[in-house]
Amino acid sequence: MKALPGKDLAAAIRARTQAEAAAGPQPRLAVVVATADEASLWYVRSIAKAAVGVGIACDLVDLGPGATSDQIGETLTRLSTDAGVHAVMMQTPLPEGASAQELAGAIDPRKDVDGANPLSLGRLAAGLPAFPPATAAAVMALLDHHEVELEGRHAVVVGRSTVVGKPLAHLLLDRNATVTVCHSRTRDLASVTSTAEVLVAAAGRAGLIGAAHVAPGAVVIDVGTNPTEDGGLTGDVASDEVAAVAGALTPVPGGVGPVTTALLLRHTARAANLP
Ligand code: NAP
Repeated sequence: MKALPGKDLAAAIRARTQAEAAAGPQPRLAVVVATADEASLWYVRSIAKAAVGVGIACDLVDLGPGATSDQIGETLTRLSTDAGVHAVMMQTPLPEGASAQELAGAIDPRKDVDGANPLSLGRLAAGLPAFPPATAAAVMALLDHHEVELEGRHAVVVGRSTVVGKPLAHLLLDRNATVTVCHSRTRDLASVTSTAEVLVAAAGRAGLIGAAHVAPGAVVIDVGTNPTEDGGLTGDVASDEVAAVAGALTPVPGGVGPVTTALLLRHTARAANLP
């Protein structure tokens, strides 16, 4: 079985992004956060650190866990109309009663570097230029980097969220894969996933995909990041048993995650250079 790590690819993307960022006005990313969730706060701090590392300015706009939907919406609107801000991202989770999908509509699609505005997803589905969510883009970047053929092949995506599964299905379709999307109501998941030549697990369920779910030789991309009791992370794929069947498999951590952060920064540099 071939391992498909993401760290080298992430480093290469960061290096290119650094060059792009240095070529024009300094790109500025604003990340809106309204939570006390430690994992989310850790993630946004890691984005800020990575941004600074490639020459991108990053403002963490922390509204606190008591922020109202109106406050979040007004902040996104203000940042979207601020000419000094090139990219806007809204970190989830949001406080009770605030809908990420509704609020993301306030992000200018030209600054929507994590593809959160429903308009971005619509444009993606229509084959028009748009920033895809960084995670979906990271899966495609990993497949390309490791030269995985997609044309005419059967790709199965487990998960249909608007941040991962749905945009990814469109990106795979655009590359002429034959795409099946599974979800929690899919009957006999293994009977579907075991027909995949390329299988992407994005359900957020630790160990959901076992050996019986995977065809011999299949390429398996594990998007899942599930916290473990010892403070670590584990994927949606039971890697020990799947490694014996799959042709290739991404690790968790160290697979999709680092590429996602790197692409978020690349999208920011691109947003700063849009005509
Ligand atoms: P989500 O919004 O909770 O969506 C999960 C999807 O999985 C839903 O469509 C759900 O089906 C489906 N699902 C849940 N249980 C299932 C089961 N037993 N069988 C088949 N499908 C099932 O999650 P998300 O935001 O898309 O994230 C998915 C995973 O990716 C999480 O572990 C998240 O932490 C991780 N993630 C990683 C990165 C990264 O950079 N590495 C970035 C984003 C997310 P229904 O629609 O029927 O409910």
